[in-house]
Amino acid sequence: MTSVIIHYQELALKGRNRPWFISTLVRTVRAALSDVDVEEVRSLMGRIEVRLGPAADWSVVRERLAGLPGIANFSRATHIVPDLDTIADAIVASVVGRPAKTFRISARRADKRFPLSSPDIERLIGRRVQDATGWAVDLSRPEFTIHIELVTNDAFFYFDRERGPGGLPTGTSGKVACLLSGGIDSPVAAWRMMRRGCRVYFVHFHSYPVLSQTSQEKVRELVECLTRHQLRSRLFLVPFAPVQQQIVVSVPPPLRVVIYRRVMVRIAERLAFRVGAHALVTGDVVGQVASQTIENLAVIEGAATMPLLRPLLGFDKEEITREAQQLGTYGVSIVPDEDCCSLFTPRFPATRATRAAVEAAEAGLDMAALVDRAADTAVTLNFRFPGDRIDLRVGAAVQGDRQ
Ligand code: ATP
Ligand code: MG
Repeated sequence: MTSVIIHYQELALKGRNRPWFISTLVRTVRAALSDVDVEEVRSLMGRIEVRLGPAADWSVVRERLAGLPGIANFSRATHIVPDLDTIADAIVASVVGRPAKTFRISARRADKRFPLSSPDIERLIGRRVQDATGWAVDLSRPEFTIHIELVTNDAFFYFDRERGPGGLPTGTSGKVACLLSGGIDSPVAAWRMMRRGCRVYFVHFHSYPVLSQTSQEKVRELVECLTRHQLRSRLFLVPFAPVQQQIVVSVPPPLRVVIYRRVMVRIAERLAFRVGAHALVTGDVVGQVASQTIENLAVIEGAATMPLLRPLLGFDKEEITREAQQLGTYGVSIVPDEDCCSLFTPRFPATRATRAAVEAAEAGLDMAALVDRAADTAVTLNFRFPGDRIDLRVGAAVQGDRQ
């Protein structure tokens, strides 16, 4: 019988919360494989077993599990009774003919009542494999490792390990709202928080119909891509042109980008409250563009009452680009579009906005009304994976609605 054995690492450290972390991961794995032939997903003494049905497609299972935060590594394993002779016979039958010259056995015994120690099991089965194949044992740099895991009523063996993303299962670190621009950085910032166990909501500001609809199409694709990692997502598309039209009336050009950002932060925070999120996330990187000097970042953050998390602050563009490529968001992010912040702004915005100047410029705005109206005109899209159903709802309908 074929199973998948999933290992988590960090979860093991979480003390009394451990059962909750594990049951969250079990539920996530079930949901991620809901359209795959899976007989059972269960927690089994420090690992998770997924029992595959005959119609399960391994390449699909592998791709799904490789994207789930909380999974350190996983393997397609043969499920067998915990009897040494039976295990040895099955291993020998499945390794003969493999092109290897050296090997090692790595045994783990979750149930210490098993009559033999792990080194004994390794020696005994290693001998059988050696006799059958003629391979030499090499403990330090084997060409081939045979893993055996023994739990109370079950045993598993496998040869290859696939890497998961590590981190923590979705939802175990609470909810955050990420300002998603359609550029390279913010999807990576969202992914960083997802990997730490946050469920990420997305907020995008667009200036359609003054500018094109491209940025909205891009963020839809980006959220679709990121949903593979958290299985359910919500995206708020906020019309920003009406806000900008108000801002340009009273705010001098050099301060507009910073004030756009401060207003974005306030609107995102309003939406975050509605879904029960506790922090905002942006893809800001220190010094990358004029709006991202430390002074400007500080002034923008001043508009938030929630923590504003910026997981990429200290990264280089190359590092972020590499991660975006691995994540699969890069191709969408580099599609040219018109960022809403380019609207009514000079080529050289202020690089050192001060709090006093910004507050003076904002004094002419009815900020509460601006924020309310923008939040209420947001369009909500829901995403699900597997399956790609998207619901469309406008504005106030999302009030108090928690996913
Ligand atoms: P990115 O690659 O994420 O667009 P960037 O390097 O282009 O980042 P900026 O355009 O200055 O930098 O944006 C900084 C951050 O502000 C973004 O990472 C994002 O979190 C937020 N942001 C900017 N524009 C928008 C937008 N139109 N909608 C939502 N968030 C935005
Ligand atoms: Mg950008």
